[in-house]
Amino acid sequence: MTDPIRLLLVEDNPGDAVLLRETLREVGGKDQFTLTHVTRLDEALEKLSSQTFDVILLDLSLPDAHGLETLSRTNASASGTPIVVLTGNNDDTIAYKAVQEGAQDYLVKGKADANLVARSLRYAIERQRMVAQLKRAREVERHMANHDALTGLPNRQLFYDRLGQAINHARREEKSVAVMFLDLDDFKLLNDTLGHEVGDRLLQAVADRLREVLRDTDTAARLGGDEFTLILYGTMTADEPARVAQRVLDAIAEPFQLDNNDLFATGSVGISVFPQDGDDVETMVRNADMAMYRAKGAGKNNYQFYTPAMNREAIERMEMEKELRRALEHDEIIVYYQPQVEIRSGRITGMEALARWRLPDGTIIDPDRFIPLAEETGLIVPLGERVVRMACAQNKAWQRAGIPPIRVAVNLSARQLQKRPAGRQAGYDPVTTIPGILEEIGLDAKYLELEITESVLMRDAEYSVQTISALYDQGIRFAIDDFGIGYSSMNYLKVLPASKLKIDRSFVRMIGRNPRDTAIAEAIIAMAHSLDMKAVAEGVETVDQWEKLRSLHCDEVQGYLFSEPVAPNDATALLADAVRKSA
Ligand code: C2E
Ligand code: MG
Ligand code: MG
Repeated sequence: MTDPIRLLLVEDNPGDAVLLRETLREVGGKDQFTLTHVTRLDEALEKLSSQTFDVILLDLSLPDAHGLETLSRTNASASGTPIVVLTGNNDDTIAYKAVQEGAQDYLVKGKADANLVARSLRYAIERQRMVAQLKRAREVERHMANHDALTGLPNRQLFYDRLGQAINHARREEKSVAVMFLDLDDFKLLNDTLGHEVGDRLLQAVADRLREVLRDTDTAARLGGDEFTLILYGTMTADEPARVAQRVLDAIAEPFQLDNNDLFATGSVGISVFPQDGDDVETMVRNADMAMYRAKGAGKNNYQFYTPAMNREAIERMEMEKELRRALEHDEIIVYYQPQVEIRSGRITGMEALARWRLPDGTIIDPDRFIPLAEETGLIVPLGERVVRMACAQNKAWQRAGIPPIRVAVNLSARQLQKRPAGRQAGYDPVTTIPGILEEIGLDAKYLELEITESVLMRDAEYSVQTISALYDQGIRFAIDDFGIGYSSMNYLKVLPASKLKIDRSFVRMIGRNPRDTAIAEAIIAMAHSLDMKAVAEGVETVDQWEKLRSLHCDEVQGYLFSEPVAPNDATALLADAVRKSA
């Protein structure tokens, strides 16, 4: 047995009311009604405020209300209860209007038999239920559209909405808003090494901790990846954002228990404050983001407030990036060459190719000023490819000119070996691209050497080693550059098929003068030899250094003593000169 349908009948005409009561009694089967009958609108509204009904049967002409007004006032108090309107014989238009204004249906008095009335009421209830369900479904959908599925935090969309509201309020009420950008430190490394599942759970745990740290009026959101944002709103002392930021950092620095393992994480936070750091959503977000990058640069696990100087630097960098793109298009990136000399014979055995940026006015810019930017923006990939191509073509030209074959050494950035470096053109793969260049130019692979530093192994290590091995298998040689200054140098030696160690300039500088530097250089040389590698000293500037290196059995040297990096024509002259002397 289903519960009887609770019907509120609002009808002032006693005859009509009796008739309806009779009609409803005739209705058989499952449709049973419990009837509440009132004759005035104010009584109806009173009932609606104190009781729940399934459906309302409403006469539009009442002593205290008339026409559509009766409907609209009832509707306003009905909180979703469906209404079926009762009309007189000639009220077709008003009945139609009533349905348009929110009535579920209408019945013409005296024309409705029991079945019609019952069906109309039942359908009204059913339709209303469906509408309510649909509304709930839409709410769920709206929640999902506004929240991040992984952490349940508001997503980017909702974050922007809330920030916009907070700024508007703050402007009217003369309050403050602080926006914080939180980025986990080295999250990508963690994700790569421990797997995405662990990464996901860490993100969820971080979200939980953010919820704990924040007050109810604050918002924490996840923009995507390992990027979270916080909005603080209210009256704020100058150091309040700093205190909250520190609380956030402390909360994240507590070990996370995932899978019974302690996992350690840190984050970097950038802060911008309304009104001093920005007047609108975009500016506030951009500035907090910029400050976050500064926090990363300042060694991670710290927070930084936005300052206008950051903006200037960012603009300069953007300008520079644009310039660098243009430089690539207009062949302003050129290659200088620095000879590598074999100590034993005094012969030039190789040339290191070093990128230079030559401005239209002839000014030469050193790589330290544009390689880091190229790496960050991904421009290093096309740039590096260009350098490989020019160096190989130059080496081929030397061979054609009758100069005894030498190797050309090209520096390769870690980015160029990564699976998906930003900015990499579709289809770029060093394993095919570099050998392709050699073939195109007709240079034997053994005359190309690639110099890599350990930053290669810091990201996508496995993939980088694969790439390097694949290139090695095709005959390309490898040298480990700047050896001794990084912290994973030993790991390197184990896995990379390199045939050369380049001793970093910092050890060479004091060689023969500082016993410790001398000892380190000596150890590196000995180690290289026992691993069947050649040792090359970088930055040799004096005869004393050269002598000392010779006595330590270093194989090759490179440095100002012999020659600075020089333009291609001068490099050709150096080589031709050497040929003449040996003849
Ligand atoms: P690196 O590969 O270690 O190159 C050696 C650097 O030492 C060169 O600086 C060279 O000019 C400098 N050098 C050579 N001999 C001496 C010396 O006797 N004394 C001193 N004080 N310095 C000496 P450069 O050309 O400014 O290049 C700097 C760095 O930029 C390179 O260091 C390399 O890491 C990077 N780089 C240059 N070209 C490229 C390139 O095409 N691609 C990539 N990825 N990096 C490049
Ligand atoms: Mg180098
Ligand atoms: Mg070097």
